[in-house]
Amino acid sequence: MKVDVLEYYSKAEWSAIKSESSKHETPCVIIDLDIVKRKYQELGEHFPFSKIYYAVKANPAIPVLELLRDLGSNFDIASRYELDRILSLGVSPDRISYGNTIKKRADIRYFYEKGVRLFATDSEPDLRNIAKEAPGARVFCRILTEGSSTADWPLSRKFGCHPDMAIDLLVLAKDLGLVPAGISFHVGSQQREIGAWDSAIAKVRYIYDYLESEGIHLTLINMGGGFPANYISKTNSMDVYASEITRYLTEDFGDDLPEIILEPGRSLVGESGVIVSEVVLVSKKSSTGLDRWLYLDVGKFNGLIETWDESIKYPLYCEARGDDCEDYIIAGPTCDSQDIMYEFYRNPLPSYIKPGDRVYWLSCGAYTSSYASVEFNGFPPIPTYFVNSGSVE
Ligand SMILES: *Cc1c(COP(=O)(O)O)cnc(C)c1O
Repeated sequence: MKVDVLEYYSKAEWSAIKSESSKHETPCVIIDLDIVKRKYQELGEHFPFSKIYYAVKANPAIPVLELLRDLGSNFDIASRYELDRILSLGVSPDRISYGNTIKKRADIRYFYEKGVRLFATDSEPDLRNIAKEAPGARVFCRILTEGSSTADWPLSRKFGCHPDMAIDLLVLAKDLGLVPAGISFHVGSQQREIGAWDSAIAKVRYIYDYLESEGIHLTLINMGGGFPANYISKTNSMDVYASEITRYLTEDFGDDLPEIILEPGRSLVGESGVIVSEVVLVSKKSSTGLDRWLYLDVGKFNGLIETWDESIKYPLYCEARGDDCEDYIIAGPTCDSQDIMYEFYRNPLPSYIKPGDRVYWLSCGAYTSSYASVEFNGFPPIPTYFVNSGSVE
């Protein structure tokens, strides 16, 4: 099935993106800031009881950050470089959490000196560093979750600890003079199985109860990211995510919920962006070969790293003439044989496609422009241009 761009963008959005893209050479990313705005507002309406901490790593472009700053977002930060950028935009440190559990002592001190007081942890050495370098700070402990087989980009192996360890760490946090605030989890990015939140929230309830009996009253649940963007593999709509997750929360915590934090990345910015690329070459490997190879000027190293293991299946759209479609193996421009985006998953594109035709990668606003190599084979970082389609108030 050929992709219908209007399943992903309204007419106004697509026409704004398309007309901006026609002014630029490829490859480039076009972001419609109004889509980010709409996504932020929708998330807030779906989870009115929560505080949103945008996961900056998903797209750290300054216009995106300024927009979210003005909409009142908070920010989840993973490094001192992200921190410098956010502070330079005038965001106050009480709107920032240091969500990375892997950090140097010097970086903890840096965040503390800049005024940040909310820290994630998942291990004793890190917790002890926080106690030394950020005395009195609020800490939340990240737990391991299930669901890595149903997330398109799993995140819960490197990060998080067993719930029993989380209990020990929060007791220790109190002994070390920190404020044991609560629990965080991340069910995996682009999580298609909503039940993953159910089991995570049940673990949080267990930890809350256990610590209550030890005289520690937790006040925070950080439910991480994992909410979907619209790619080829279908997911439930955000309505369904929101009503199910809200039900899990109220079943376990009643109507008097603790402070709830969400850390969306992909679901806020993913659909806002389109990568515009150009066909470099169409070829075969032998005269009798059945496979046609389509080489583009964008690849795994300049924006499409999430095609790794064909994890994220971006919708591809091309206006080349003719309705006849064919399957291609789709690869990037660099001299690395890993630079193949799709070999097994076949994305139908026009049979008459030729060098110079433009191919649009839809839903490419998250984990693309900044998630790239630096000048590999001399290719420069992919530039981003911004539009306002006017599709939102
Ligand atoms: C990456 C990340 C997020 C964002 O996840 P999405 O699935 O993109 O929404 C949130 N929290 C933490 C701690 C992360 O590392």
